[in-house]
Amino acid sequence: MTIKVLRPDVAAKIAAGEVVERPASVVKELVENSIDAGAGRITIEIKGGGVDLIRVTDDGCGIPADEMLLSFHRHATSKLTSPDDLESVTTMGFRGEALPSIASVSRVSMSSRPASEAVGSEVQLRWGEVEKNGSKGCAAGTTVSVESLFENVPARRKFLRSPGSERSRISDLVARFALAFPHVRFSLNVEGRNTLSTSGNGILSDAVIAVYGAETAGAMLEVSWDGLDGYSVHGYAGAPSLHRANRSYITFIMNGRWIQSPFLTYALTECYQGFLPVGRHPMAALMLAVPPSEVDVNVHPAKREVRFRREDRIFSGLQRAVRSTLMQVSPVREISLPSGPTGVPPGGPFSPRQQHVSPDRLAFSMEAGNSNGASVSGSLIEQPETTGKEMSSLRVLGQVRNTYLVLEGPDGIYLIDQHAAHERILFEKVLSGLPDAQVQSLLEPVAVELSPGQEELALSSAELLERYGFLLEAFGERSYILRAVPSVIRANDPAKALVEVLDLMAFEGLVKEREEALAASIACHGAIRAGMQMEQREMEALLVQLEACENPHTCPHGRPTMIHLSSSHLEKEFGRR
Ligand code: ADP
Ligand code: MG
Repeated sequence: MTIKVLRPDVAAKIAAGEVVERPASVVKELVENSIDAGAGRITIEIKGGGVDLIRVTDDGCGIPADEMLLSFHRHATSKLTSPDDLESVTTMGFRGEALPSIASVSRVSMSSRPASEAVGSEVQLRWGEVEKNGSKGCAAGTTVSVESLFENVPARRKFLRSPGSERSRISDLVARFALAFPHVRFSLNVEGRNTLSTSGNGILSDAVIAVYGAETAGAMLEVSWDGLDGYSVHGYAGAPSLHRANRSYITFIMNGRWIQSPFLTYALTECYQGFLPVGRHPMAALMLAVPPSEVDVNVHPAKREVRFRREDRIFSGLQRAVRSTLMQVSPVREISLPSGPTGVPPGGPFSPRQQHVSPDRLAFSMEAGNSNGASVSGSLIEQPETTGKEMSSLRVLGQVRNTYLVLEGPDGIYLIDQHAAHERILFEKVLSGLPDAQVQSLLEPVAVELSPGQEELALSSAELLERYGFLLEAFGERSYILRAVPSVIRANDPAKALVEVLDLMAFEGLVKEREEALAASIACHGAIRAGMQMEQREMEALLVQLEACENPHTCPHGRPTMIHLSSSHLEKEFGRR
């Protein structure tokens, strides 16, 4: 066997295989070039499923006449100059491979005019060979027409699906672009018919309407979350009633790029667990902001997949954003068994902000609490003065596995997670309570040793800790004297409580503001644990206090406090209807 250097045209065809797999990949490369050119308007025309014609017209910066041919040279790009630029690339393209690759497997004509030039120019290539190069009168911007795709690569043509399925790939792709770039006016014309046009007014919800239609868009819910350190999640997620047979209605746009991420899809889908019928998938168009230094966009040659340095942050941010939105519309999760019902009841037994019960009536006495004991002596949750009146329609039937309360309501059975529910109650109480009432002075101050990380957090949050009831005095290197703790904390081991709250806070602080993180940590530490037996009146008291919460249906982490098994579902399961 002799080793031969491939002829350039053969090498080009092989390279083209990586970039130009099918008509949709041509559309992707051309649209990305238009976006990189700063276009405000991009028109895409398709004939014969993209094999006969793909034409992309933009009003971007245009290409000077003397650079027209250069742009078809391999590795010719205007977007990178030094290797360092690779680290901070903000354009869609940067390899300089798309135009030569496309040109090697089709007939291409490109006409272009920078706004500053009076006359434009045009080049035509067939299978990579230049056939025409001259000036042309044309509108400012660039038009690239790709005809007879893969005419010279019959093997590749054979592998293409039907024109119909190539068309739907292209439509799906353009829809994602339209969602990712709401400020660009997109227009898609397929076989002579206009199938998508967006206004380019920069408003994501308008792009969602253009892509999915007004009715579907109307059933999408606004999601908004701003985390610390430059993380945020904004956009739209489908109401649980809106579900699809596959995941192609989930769009993530990260820092202005459409990305595909099984990891984020999983994070999103998990939020809908119990909301959607089995085998159905949610819809979403979400814009994620992640600090550029925390994300690696170059893992995938087509740049659709990314690697997050801090997966936990974006994961929990996304879930927090979506869950809190879902909980507002479908406060109580419907249990969906394999053959289960598809609907979610319009509301829960409580509606948020239903009524306000003053915090003092909800006083807790936690002294008797014991974090790991199976049974609680004395009262963990004080009975409020008014019993029954606020308990609306739910009746406590009992406790399962010392973890869940079972209740009967007007429409079936409700299960409450005792820890999550109590966490919610304490969280709101801690956040809204009067500082004085929250402090519990220790009869005997105790010494606490902090780790360097805990100490750093304690010092940087000293004022906040004190406001919320932890009275600390410096005693020596990393040693402190603890004189008081928040009243909702179980005081049997206050030193341990402080350490645990600091550790929880360090974790919560990843996704929450510091004050909220502290309140959530105190609530988590103070809340009744799973595995603790509760008496009937304690369970009833928990219910009343939960009902008084502003957001009774989720714990501070966004997990549900209760789930619902509807009467109609029971009837169905037991074959009564
Ligand atoms: P890349 O996008 O990786 O730079 P391409 O082969 O896709 O490589 O394009 C080569 C060059 O051609 C680009 O760097 C750009 O300068 C120019 N170009 C291509 N399409 C357009 C367009 N629509 N508007 C303006 N310039 C363009
Ligand atoms: Mg490009």
